[in-house]
Amino acid sequence: MRQKKPARYGVMGGTFNPIHNGHLVTAEEARMQFALDKVIFMPAGKPPHKPDRTGETVLPAEERYLMTVIATASNPHFIVSRLEIDRPGISYTIDTVRSLNKIYAGAQIFFITGADAVWEILTWKDPEKIVDFCTFIAATRPGYSLNKFKKYHLLPNKNNNTALTPKVEFMKIPALAISSTGIRRRIKAGHPIRYLVPESVLNYIYKSGFYHE
Ligand code: NAP
Repeated sequence: MRQKKPARYGVMGGTFNPIHNGHLVTAEEARMQFALDKVIFMPAGKPPHKPDRTGETVLPAEERYLMTVIATASNPHFIVSRLEIDRPGISYTIDTVRSLNKIYAGAQIFFITGADAVWEILTWKDPEKIVDFCTFIAATRPGYSLNKFKKYHLLPNKNNNTALTPKVEFMKIPALAISSTGIRRRIKAGHPIRYLVPESVLNYIYKSGFYHE
């Protein structure tokens, strides 16, 4: 009897404040390029580096979760997890990948997120343990420079002689010219966001009055 191949799950980690078409294109492209069985969207409950770094208040987790559900509902390969939303305290990736390893025992986990987030992995909690549990897929925009990754040995290293050489795969996504920050700015300025986010998310944002001053 032929042995069943291990399942391959993508985990789309992000604040999703709000989720936009760039995120959806990224998830679908990762699913195709890495032959993923499912992509699990993982809205951060309490993002580790926010709001201190950005100075901006992040929309409540429950609202970001809801928009993620609305945005992904029509794709049979996408699911949304409440793991980080329901876990009290700061949403550390190490806790998430550990839980997923138990829930999906034997599966291969691919943590998909923005290259800017991935390159800061050395500042995350227990980075050397995270890389034991998953491979990173770092989504970049065309023209994105990989120099900072080389500097910190975050690229696969031929001699594998650094303490931390996580597995990072890069994926260029033209649609990532769209950003959550850009969308929030456009709403504040009264500019349209149609076609940057799914229609259902757009309606929910306007109905709830999110991101206006
Ligand atoms: P961020 O710093 O807000 O995002 C950095 C860049 O990556 C932005 O350009 C962002 O664009 C983009 N991005 C974020 N998530 C993406 C995704 N899934 N696909 C494509 N692009 C994405 O990062 P964040 O959203 O707060 O955090 C990203 C992930 O890293 C989360 O799962 C978070 O929990 C994890 N993280 C963990 C630790 C830790 O464990 N200590 C620390 C920091 C982050 P948009 O703004 O348009 O999304």
